Amino acid sequence: MKIHEYQAKELFAKYNVTTQEGYVAETKEQAVECAKKLNASMYVVKAQAHCGGRGKAGGVKLARSIEEVEAAAEKIIGMRIVNKQTGAEGKLVRKVLVTDAVNIKKEYYLSLAIDNEHAAIVIIASGAGGTEIEEIAANQPELIVKQLVSPITGIKDYQARYVANRIGIPKANVKEFIVMLKNMYKLFVEKDCSLVEVNPLVETEEGKLIAIDGKVNFDDNATFRHPDILELRDIHEENPKEYEAGQHDLNYVSLDGSIGCMVNGAGLAMATMDIIHAFGGEPANFLDVGGTATTERVTAAFKLLSDKQVKAILVNIFGGIVKCDVIAEGIVIAAREVGLNVPLVVRLDGTNVERGKEILKESGLKIYACDDLRSAAKKAVEMAG
Ligand code: ADP
Ligand code: MG
Repeated sequence: MKIHEYQAKELFAKYNVTTQEGYVAETKEQAVECAKKLNASMYVVKAQAHCGGRGKAGGVKLARSIEEVEAAAEKIIGMRIVNKQTGAEGKLVRKVLVTDAVNIKKEYYLSLAIDNEHAAIVIIASGAGGTEIEEIAANQPELIVKQLVSPITGIKDYQARYVANRIGIPKANVKEFIVMLKNMYKLFVEKDCSLVEVNPLVETEEGKLIAIDGKVNFDDNATFRHPDILELRDIHEENPKEYEAGQHDLNYVSLDGSIGCMVNGAGLAMATMDIIHAFGGEPANFLDVGGTATTERVTAAFKLLSDKQVKAILVNIFGGIVKCDVIAEGIVIAAREVGLNVPLVVRLDGTNVERGKEILKESGLKIYACDDLRSAAKKAVEMAG
């Protein structure tokens, strides 16, 4: 799960990770009120959307007066940020963060992430922080410092000091840096994060370290332990279909192809996608109805598949715990409710398969029933054109 920069900064403030005062606005009038509260001489107005690269996209603007704050907010609210991180449709900006402008002397990169290979939290840092960090990582990886953290000891002072020295934190700020990094770690562990990132961490002309951007992601499998974090969820930022699927405990991922798939079990879903590819087709989604599919869930799943990009639907169910007749009933109900108007190919096998096939036949719906996955996938690819 992702949150906005302003929410990340609220968490930073709670964990004593030095950041700035700032207020959120949904209209330019509110932005003016926010600026007045700040009592600053220069402001920055920042798009709040679940993506990075806002600066380069024109979503971060410096304002020298309250009037300029208003003008910047007017430009940013309602804009669409389109970059590598957002995909082609981009992200609509609904809110801005108004904060004071800092005098930047140097920008650093500092984050904590999960290193899957070592099953540990890793510190990633660089003296070349800011908006070019992706290019730096690709072209000058030697400028990036990594340090694995032992889950038993947490971050040790010597480790934090080593990172500070490597990335060129001034001597006078090293203590401050160590405290900041350890507080980020505390946040990471206590809230079950998957990423805590500060880019840039700024050294100001006045000689202070401040997190002027913040990104915090959470492990979805642990959010149930953190009702306070779940409250930060902004469903506008999520794929509406994936959100809807989550409400029904369905494992769903939107893809770009034209064949809607309904499958039980993640392994079978992957195999189904592979075989669709093998026959020259492209799946429109990954949808795993799970092992305990009820008629309601199958109906919900089927509705998710009824999308204009979907030209054919392939149902591939192996009834182990889930019974084929339950799946068949769900398909029939849902197909009637959504007014199915694309070809439906069904391959059922396993528990109660005969009863399942009967239900499909009796329904009178136009269904292509197949006995094995190969012929079903082939048929679906053919029907999708
Ligand atoms: P993004 O990473 O999405 O581009 P950032 O918050 O990192 O957004 O802002 C991009 C750049 O804008 C920063 O690297 C920094 O140079 C500048 N910037 C952002 N906030 C401020 C601020 N409060 N004061 C001065 N400069 C800022
Ligand atoms: Mg940034």
